[in-house]
Amino acid sequence: MELRVLGAHNLESKDTRMECHLIDGVLALDAGSLTRSLSFEEQRGIRAIILSHRHYDHVKDLLPLGIAVRDSGTTVDIYGIEDTLNSVRERLLDGLLFPDFLKSPSPENPTFRLHTVEVYKEFKVLDYTAMAVPVPHSVPAAGFQISDGTVRLFYTGDTGRGLSEQWKHVSPHVLLTEVTFGNEHESHADLVGHLTPKLLHECLESFKEVHGSYPRVLVSHVNPPWEEAVRSELEELTQKTGLEFLVTEADMVITL
Ligand SMILES: [Zn+2]
Ligand SMILES: [Zn+2]
Repeated sequence: MELRVLGAHNLESKDTRMECHLIDGVLALDAGSLTRSLSFEEQRGIRAIILSHRHYDHVKDLLPLGIAVRDSGTTVDIYGIEDTLNSVRERLLDGLLFPDFLKSPSPENPTFRLHTVEVYKEFKVLDYTAMAVPVPHSVPAAGFQISDGTVRLFYTGDTGRGLSEQWKHVSPHVLLTEVTFGNEHESHADLVGHLTPKLLHECLESFKEVHGSYPRVLVSHVNPPWEEAVRSELEELTQKTGLEFLVTEADMVITL
C-alpha cells in the first residue's frame, strides 16, 4: 500500500495544506487538498473518497475536484457516516455553488455518488476492505480501517481522548493519527475533541494493552502554531518509549 500525503495540517497557507491523503493513487482519505496537490491527470485517477467527518478542512476540495473531473466520464464514489454525507449533500453538493455533481452530467453517471456506511460493518471500496468506527470529536466523526489484504491502516480523522475505546474493534499495522495541539493545550483539545502528544501516548499504551505491541505511527492534522511543540513533545515521547513517530508533510510518499 502506498500512502501519499496531500495535506497534513488543519489550516491552509502558502506552506500548509488541509488534511488529505491518497492510497495507491485511487482512494482518497478526506478531501482537504485533493486539487491543490494533484495534477489534472492524477485528479482523474481518483476512484473513491472516504470522508471522516463534515468539517470543512476535510471536505473542502470536493467542489473543485467535481468541476475538474465531471467530463471524464467516471463516477467517484464517496463514503462516510450518515451525518457526514447529509451535511455534504445539503451544504456543499446542493447544486447552488457549482453544478449538481450528484445528478450531472447524467443521473445514471453522476460525478459523485454518495454511500452511507454503518459503523462496525465492513464494506468494500475498490479492492480494499474498510470499516468505520465512531471516534470522539466535536461533531459526529469516524475513523476508518482500510485493508488491502496485506496491510491494515487505521486513519483516525479528527479524534480526541476516548479513541482507545475502539482498539478492540480494529487491529491496524499502521496508525495514521491526528495530533492537533501541544500538551500545554490539553484542556482545549479535550473541549474540541483533538489529541496532543500526551493524549496520543495514552491511546498508544491502551493499544499495546489490547494488541500486545504498538502500531507504526504516522502523525497528521497538526495545527501550525503548535507544530514546533508537537514535534519536540513527540521526540521526548520517543526517548521515553522507544516509539518512532513520523510527522507527515504534504507530498511525502510512504510505503506501508
Ligand atoms: Zn480537522
Ligand atoms: Zn474536525
